[in-house]
Amino acid sequence: MSRLTRWLLDLVFPPACVHCGAQGDWMCTRCLNGISFRIPARELEAIDSITTVGSYADPALRALITGFKYQSATCLEDAFERLLQRFLADKKPVWASSDIVLIPVPSSEHRILERGFDHVQALANTVVKQTSVRIATDILKRRRQSLSNADLKNEDARRGNVRGAFEIAGKAPEFVILADDVVTSGATAVECAKLLKNHGTKQVYLFTWANGG
Ligand SMILES: [Zn+2]
Repeated sequence: MSRLTRWLLDLVFPPACVHCGAQGDWMCTRCLNGISFRIPARELEAIDSITTVGSYADPALRALITGFKYQSATCLEDAFERLLQRFLADKKPVWASSDIVLIPVPSSEHRILERGFDHVQALANTVVKQTSVRIATDILKRRRQSLSNADLKNEDARRGNVRGAFEIAGKAPEFVILADDVVTSGATAVECAKLLKNHGTKQVYLFTWANGG
């Protein structure tokens, strides 16, 4: 967004923190800096290492993610960038300084239509801006219309829903970092990782903004 567009937008819709409501910014520094990076380690089948920024149970992080998806995506981009800056400086994940290929988990078409944009891809671009990773959006594709896993409560239903939902176009890179917004059961990420590994990928890392949902 240009500075002029931002200035005009701020004039019409004065920014207020999506979490505490304080005037001045879409997420105030206090709420943003209050997001904790201390979350329990997690393991998922076929995924070699998981990097998660925080917990979905953290109300400030949850407000940031839901705000991005459903309300003011472009306005909150800046907050995500600042959050990631602090996270990278603190955690220094090894993949961030390599030229690994980042693949956003493809959103379903109806979700993109509903929101007007692919929020997972938009969030992945924030990661690309601040690290040396390269983004590839044409390798992993959604094959058929599956329901969003967020709509399915049962673990078996989630696994069944994503089985066979993706396909690989072209050559799978040797090292991949999958990126998703929130990882709940992990079924989608595991399905993507397995598929990539069946196509020759040696290692799959996972980057996600929040754990649980
Ligand atoms: Zn706030």
